[in-house]
Amino acid sequence: MQLKGKTAIVTGSTSGIGLGIAHALAAAGANIVMNGLGTEADNAAAIQAVTAHGTRVAFDPANMLRTNQITDMVTKCEKDFGSLDIIVNNAGIQHLAPVEDFPIEKWDEIIAINLTSAFHAVRTAIPGMKARKFGRIINICSAHSVVASPLRTAYVAAKHGLAGFTKAVALETAEFGITSNAISPGFVWTPLVEKQIPVIAKSKGITEAAAKKVLLHKQPTQQFVTVEQVADLAVFLASPAAGAITGANYSIDGGWTAE
Ligand code: NAD
Repeated sequence: MQLKGKTAIVTGSTSGIGLGIAHALAAAGANIVMNGLGTEADNAAAIQAVTAHGTRVAFDPANMLRTNQITDMVTKCEKDFGSLDIIVNNAGIQHLAPVEDFPIEKWDEIIAINLTSAFHAVRTAIPGMKARKFGRIINICSAHSVVASPLRTAYVAAKHGLAGFTKAVALETAEFGITSNAISPGFVWTPLVEKQIPVIAKSKGITEAAAKKVLLHKQPTQQFVTVEQVADLAVFLASPAAGAITGANYSIDGGWTAE
């Protein structure tokens, strides 16, 4: 129970990687504020499952497109739980299209949810973390924070931006017991990736099974990364053992970005 007494917000934790991180942090003893689109009733099954670890769990429906809802989520967590110790900026969306056809509203949404929401959460959380001399900021980036792929201009721009933001925050907070790190997964089999398969199949004129192989071709292991593997790395970065690690961007991508 290395995180006993700590409280974490995990944005976008009703599905996929965020849900896995919420589980793993709760299993390590942390109280959790879950977040995601939809109502508490919509997300009841996911919330109930995380509650089973025995720590205190709340749900905040803040939409990562709305500045006030993001800052209110952080201040409400501090008020209700007494502190916000760990923030995992995980909420993210994807859209695939050639740059010349990329829908402008999708560009704006991807930059807002995948990048700007982290700025609003972090800037609101830092004064309390500085006062308590403890904080763990974990930004879920992507292999696309290091390399690019076609059809993903907004996503690649947002993730490269989030990786840079992570480093700048690390430098500003290093003397206050706060760490700021990024995790950059390769392809993890979640709804976000599943939705890309038919688009890739159509754009390349191939079957969906072949489109799945196109993704796996990026990873020398030929395996999807698992949600649990990403979640365990997040727990490590939140733990006392990682106190000297800040400004790092951890690849967890089956060797993709080693090429
Ligand atoms: P997912 O689609 O399974 O989950 C996304 C979560 O974000 C959901 O809980 C959803 O409700 C929430 N969300 C979306 N828009 C939101 C909004 N406006 N406000 C609040 N919450 C919102 O996706 P995932 O694959 O688990 O991705 C999670 C993160 O991991 C994303 O940042 C993604 O870019 C990153 N990532 C995923 C992969 C992958 O292969 N799946 C790889 C690298 C990085």
